[in-house]
Amino acid sequence: MRSHLLSVLGLLGMAACGNEIAAPGLYDRRVTVADDGDADAGGDPGDSGPPPAPIVTALVAASAVAQSAFAGDEVAEPPSVVVRDQFGNPMAGQSVHFTLEAGGGGIDPSFVTTDAEGKATLTAWSLGKRVAPNQVRARLDATPGIAPVTFDATITTAYTVTVRFLTTVTATQRAAFENAASRWSAVIVGDLEDFQVSRSQLPNGCARDASDSTPIMVDDTIIFASVQEIDGRGGVLAQAAPCAQHDAGGIAVGVMSFDVEDLEFLESNNVLEGTILHEMGHVIGIGSLWSMNGLILSPSLGAPGANTRFTGENAAQAFVDVGGTGFTGTVPVENSGTAGSADSHWRESIFRNELMSPSISGMEPSLPMSAVTVASLKDLGAYTINDLAADDFVIASALMANGPQYPPLGVCRVVTPSEEHPLGGGLVELR
Ligand SMILES: [Zn+2]
Repeated sequence: MRSHLLSVLGLLGMAACGNEIAAPGLYDRRVTVADDGDADAGGDPGDSGPPPAPIVTALVAASAVAQSAFAGDEVAEPPSVVVRDQFGNPMAGQSVHFTLEAGGGGIDPSFVTTDAEGKATLTAWSLGKRVAPNQVRARLDATPGIAPVTFDATITTAYTVTVRFLTTVTATQRAAFENAASRWSAVIVGDLEDFQVSRSQLPNGCARDASDSTPIMVDDTIIFASVQEIDGRGGVLAQAAPCAQHDAGGIAVGVMSFDVEDLEFLESNNVLEGTILHEMGHVIGIGSLWSMNGLILSPSLGAPGANTRFTGENAAQAFVDVGGTGFTGTVPVENSGTAGSADSHWRESIFRNELMSPSISGMEPSLPMSAVTVASLKDLGAYTINDLAADDFVIASALMANGPQYPPLGVCRVVTPSEEHPLGGGLVELR
């Protein structure tokens, strides 16, 4: 009798437990399993029924839920989850749906079926290419009542670009500037020494204000941005110049301005962020510091049509890697046009829609930042670079994507430290 009573109590207990877990409406995958005969073990025959079928009760993380990696890199621990039943046992054969929620990187694959240990693990999660939150979520589509698991990742960098506006901009324009700054912060990853500077120390034009000696802490690069009249619609869309350099190299302060007649036009053509990204590239030295650093062969200014080339070895190797040919050990540089365009951009006829070619067309689907542009920053010798932050770009696709050249919206004007220009000219060294 005693064993019979225990058996009944045990059965009641299991039933209560089962009811509690499988409350109506909470789960939509209640499965009935036929008695397999094991349920009676230890009890009187006929007194106990089948055990409750295992049902999904939990989805838990089996890998780190917070990680950090370089932009474009894969996290060390791809997101992994375990599916468990009401007894805490792993459940095999469950389909886990992984989704990329933020960051713009990539995951592989999207659906993973749990293994014998109840585990589903992504093959890879590569992070996006700007400094922004990255997030992946794992959920069970068949059991929506189970809480999803969220995995977060941050972009590793010690380099920050800060934009200071000298004129007003709209909220969407400000966002475009911030997005562009966060992109360069993912490309340059090494810290530059902190400095204090005041606007009274800056070169003429370069956001200089002789009466303003307020100290500004520079960590790592500050760019003064303004919207002003340049030359009306089209023509020069924007211009940029480096203004102050860290004594160990690397630009501490720069300036860029955008033509008030072109700003909304760029925005409505979806190339404002790309144009800002381009100008910031000049501020940190692309094109603007090439000549000063002895990296230009056969300049075309004063010698139109010269075969102008960039001689940095990192960029030259990257040029070959993206399919460039015919410029052994060098990269073709723009050799037509006027100062500000020639000798300070990649050659338009070869690079086409690449970010640092001189003209910007509204028909271009995107302005990819090639591995050549990223590698050229290494050749300046001042920055610690993350190669993985480059966009997908090959020379052949640049030609094919455009076919015949679309008429450009306009060009940009680089101001080099050696010239007299209302925007700048001169480069202060901070010590
Ligand atoms: Zn430019």
